[in-house]
Amino acid sequence: MRPLTYERATTVDGAVRSQAQGPDARFLAGGTNLVDLMKYGVETPGKLVDVSRLPLSTIEPLPAGGLRVGALVKNADLAEDPRVVRAYPVLSQALLSGASPQLRNLATTGGNLLQRTRCWYFYDTAFACNKRAPGSGCPAILGQNRIHAVLGQSEACIAVHPSDLAVALAMLDAQVQLQGPEGPRTIPIGELHRLPGDTPHLETTLKHGELITAVDVPALPLAARSRYVKVRDRASFAFALTSVAVALSVSGGVVEDVRLALGGVAPKPWRPLEAERALRGRPANAHSFREAAELALQGAKGFPHNRFKIELAKRSIVRGLVELLEA
Ligand code: SF4
Repeated sequence: MRPLTYERATTVDGAVRSQAQGPDARFLAGGTNLVDLMKYGVETPGKLVDVSRLPLSTIEPLPAGGLRVGALVKNADLAEDPRVVRAYPVLSQALLSGASPQLRNLATTGGNLLQRTRCWYFYDTAFACNKRAPGSGCPAILGQNRIHAVLGQSEACIAVHPSDLAVALAMLDAQVQLQGPEGPRTIPIGELHRLPGDTPHLETTLKHGELITAVDVPALPLAARSRYVKVRDRASFAFALTSVAVALSVSGGVVEDVRLALGGVAPKPWRPLEAERALRGRPANAHSFREAAELALQGAKGFPHNRFKIELAKRSIVRGLVELLEA
């Protein structure tokens, strides 16, 4: 048995200080992923800094419009907030498509973004895994890779990021508020997660001791017409094989504006910006949507068990856009 120190933080600064002092310290919020990882022996922190009682559980309007979502807002509360349901249906749908009601009642906004991949080999310490033990190898490349990435992967790791919320927030261009030993800073959500390259154990751009305090969702009229489409093996309590967050505005039969983000296909939420650009000004119909989907998956690389994801992701994009068009 490994000794473990537990500390309950009462202030944000105190939490940051406490975590920064311990090289093997971890923040604990809802615990819905970290506690599992500790049971499996994948995470072995020497210290847990419990941040679950910090005052970061409110959803506040931002001065320029939009919402500031505290890092400790529960997934269930965010999904059901009337302002979210009205102005950002994609966020609500993404959250309700994930996990189970019990987990959503515990899981937090910040923790959801920082949850770790569900690659089977990562969770089983009997296997090598470059993400868990750098330099040990990646058995998924020649092994069971049905749930793995077709975009953004590397020769060191082909795992996908599992969060649905992160995909919706990427489509909305959310900003992540951080507090660290050197003070506060803000980063676009697109810069929060790293691609694996040859350092797949480094998953985010957070510095040691930095805590997510909030996520700012900007005002975006387009988001009132948004949707989250998730394709999975089971109808509930399953991670995405592919997912897409879409927003669309159409005028006179022509695409005025569009946003896309893909989940289940890459090590981070994937924004196919080129496909968005190509679709603006085009006729709003299934043919144009399919052309954009082809562009979005250009360069995708499949493995023996997951090649189906490339076509599935394209169809998910078309389905999301057609459903919005017909709504
Ligand atoms: Fe580990 Fe990544 Fe390979 Fe999975 S895909 S075994 S997480 S290195």
